[in-house]
Amino acid sequence: MGRPYMIESFCKMRCPACREGAVFKNKHILPLNSCLDMVDNCGVCNERLQIETNNGGGINYALTIMLFFLNALWYWPLFGLSYKDNSFFLFLITSIVVVLIAQPWLLRYSRIIFLYFIVRYKGSPNK
Ligand SMILES: [Zn+2]
Repeated sequence: MGRPYMIESFCKMRCPACREGAVFKNKHILPLNSCLDMVDNCGVCNERLQIETNNGGGINYALTIMLFFLNALWYWPLFGLSYKDNSFFLFLITSIVVVLIAQPWLLRYSRIIFLYFIVRYKGSPNK
């Protein structure tokens, strides 16, 4: 398996078939109202990326739960979690805020994860 590596292309939200073309029309998540606009076909290898059944939804749900646990990893040593006071309540609020802020990325990566499951790597058309 040559370059570009899957994990690198995944992080950069590139096409899973050639790992070069961009999946989303906008490079950044702003403007938010079009942050989930995907290209119909990959601009590099022409692989179809607009898949009707793409349900980032289910994966997004799983990622959101995961983020809650990840939050506990830094919140616990930093502020402490105890059932004796309302620190668990504060942790929940903090997590919800973090999840809301991370939502555009979560939604995008949910779709990317889905594509990487469905579309197989076919190699770069330029080589
Ligand atoms: Zn491609």
